[in-house]
Amino acid sequence: MNRAQFLVLALLSVHVLLGALCLAASRGEKESPGLRWWGWGLLVYAAGLAFTLGLVFSRPVAAFIGNSLIALSPVFTVHGVLHYTGKRLHWPLSLAGVAATMAVLAVGNFGMAASTAVNFIAPTVIATVLFAYATAMLVLQPVPDAARPARFVALVLASAILVWWVRIIAMPPLLAEPVDRDRLDVVVSSFAIAQILVGVGATFGLFWIEVRLVQSAMSHMAFTDPLTGLHNRRAILARFEEEAARWSRTGNGFALAVFDVDRFKEVNDAHGHLVGDSLLRHVGSVLAQAKRTEDVLGRLGGEEFVVLMCGHQSGGAARAADRLREAVEALPMIHEGEALRVTLSAGIAELPADGADWDHAFGVADARLYEAKRAGRNRVVGPAA
Ligand code: GH3
Ligand code: MG
Ligand code: MG
Repeated sequence: MNRAQFLVLALLSVHVLLGALCLAASRGEKESPGLRWWGWGLLVYAAGLAFTLGLVFSRPVAAFIGNSLIALSPVFTVHGVLHYTGKRLHWPLSLAGVAATMAVLAVGNFGMAASTAVNFIAPTVIATVLFAYATAMLVLQPVPDAARPARFVALVLASAILVWWVRIIAMPPLLAEPVDRDRLDVVVSSFAIAQILVGVGATFGLFWIEVRLVQSAMSHMAFTDPLTGLHNRRAILARFEEEAARWSRTGNGFALAVFDVDRFKEVNDAHGHLVGDSLLRHVGSVLAQAKRTEDVLGRLGGEEFVVLMCGHQSGGAARAADRLREAVEALPMIHEGEALRVTLSAGIAELPADGADWDHAFGVADARLYEAKRAGRNRVVGPAA
């Protein structure tokens, strides 16, 4: 075995290892079809390499089967990669491409004018088309929150295309008689090393995407109220800090409205907790639709909602909150043919007059909320004019 064959064996082993790793990692609590198809693609490629080494069948048969598998592998790997983009693989077209490649390989290996060049060129053509498509989609339509690792994978896939075509251009002069064995050995060895780097780099890139997706799902969970899908208390506090900082720069009005559902306990007592939950979702969605887009809505917990409002003149926030209160009063939830109507009470705090930080502003809004309750509910209490 010469150096080139050794390195092709290393290339094969690395792909078996990476493929097995991807398959193992793709099965977990959260299935990852992207990693699974990528892993299968690597294994098919490794199987193809094993055939081309001629360990099992004699030359033309081994070359035909091996290069057919090598032509099939990008269909699998690219199908995997496209899971991290907004596009999916066109299977009939891709498999037709594989069939056409196999026809060319059959002619090249068994036909009258047999030529070994076909074994390099035919699989490279289909792999180039598929990898170029995946590269473009990773750049143009990456999965949200993972654009950077997606661009990294795109870069590796583009390098792979470059490596294949450099090899195709470098090979023919070396195969001309008399064959320069040493130079051929160097080219094939370099190709194997480059392919190892591409396989490792792209696989790491896909794992990097997976990490980003998990991070973004976790942060979404950490900042979302599971019942209503609105911002939760943690998110509201974070947004309050941001908006308060922006407010202090621009000098625009910034206010905090705390809403509480009136006599909500009676709804739970009369209809049960599940209906109570639906009603909270209903109130959340009415508020979400009625608020201005730039206002920030969240559920603090229980039956308390909060809206951060920017850009209001003095007293404007109370009027805006009153419109939200009216919207909820006007739109009952229909439950088993019955209209369940709830009302809201609210307290407003305006910054900086009512406090410059969350604790102070919230304390003032909460005190006004209780004033609204004492005054008979279904009303908004803001700063005295
Ligand atoms: P008030 O007008 O004074 O606000 O009366 P209230 O009944 O709304 O006030 P209270 O604080 O006594 O009751 C709030 C109720 O909200 C008690 C609790 O069972 C209910 N609650 C809190 N969180 C949830 C929830 O997530 N789902 C449901 N269904 N009920 C909840
Ligand atoms: Mg209440
Ligand atoms: Mg309450």
